[in-house]
Amino acid sequence: MSKNGETTGKNAAPLRVGITGGIGSGKTTVCRIFEQLEIPVYYADERARVLMTEDGALVEKIKRLFGQQAYFEDGTLDRKYIGNIVFQDKPKLERLNSIVHPAVFEDVERWHQKHLNAPYTLKEAALLFESGSYKNLEKIITVFAPTGIRIERVMLRDGVTSREVESRILKQWPDEKKMELADFVIVNDGKRLLVPQVLEVHKSLLALNRSA
Ligand code: ATP
Repeated sequence: MSKNGETTGKNAAPLRVGITGGIGSGKTTVCRIFEQLEIPVYYADERARVLMTEDGALVEKIKRLFGQQAYFEDGTLDRKYIGNIVFQDKPKLERLNSIVHPAVFEDVERWHQKHLNAPYTLKEAALLFESGSYKNLEKIITVFAPTGIRIERVMLRDGVTSREVESRILKQWPDEKKMELADFVIVNDGKRLLVPQVLEVHKSLLALNRSA
């Protein structure tokens, strides 16, 4: 609060909020609702995929690590080829992350500069905690859905088997740990309505931003 009683939050940089949750928990679905409230959302996983094809310096680093075969002739990334390698080679996965994460970090910083007038921004990422990037965020929302529902939703969405979804779930932190570290939890179990929960979190974040 300034001397004349006005809040200082208006001139400060927008509050940086992260949103995460296990595979198929409904992060993207929840983010679409925040977008309806005119909150800018940075989809980190999707952006990482774009950068791995469009960021020339990053593409060169990936080729040095995996060879020219990492890319198809049309310049798109051979995700299956890379996926097969890093699935069995953890140090290589770490090296891949160590070149992709800084590129995403720079991209997200540029993105933030374009949204300085937003009340707050959202960064959506599946591995927000696992990657450590939650440390650069001021508040965290975890979207929770029971495992069985997540498996069904992802099987339907991606046309994959339950075994494939389960193996991806095993690579992520357990929901309990994510919920413990979160400032807000949104339950997407198909019973509780999403919109009222999003509005509640939105109201709290606006209040926090005003009192910053
Ligand atoms: P991922 O981690 O794989 O990116 P996600 O957490 O972003 O997944 P979504 O893509 O939002 O999850 O949701 C997974 C699937 O479940 C989508 O097909 C979505 O339409 C569907 N879904 C999400 N929430 C609900 C709901 N409440 N009711 C019905 N379907 C839902």
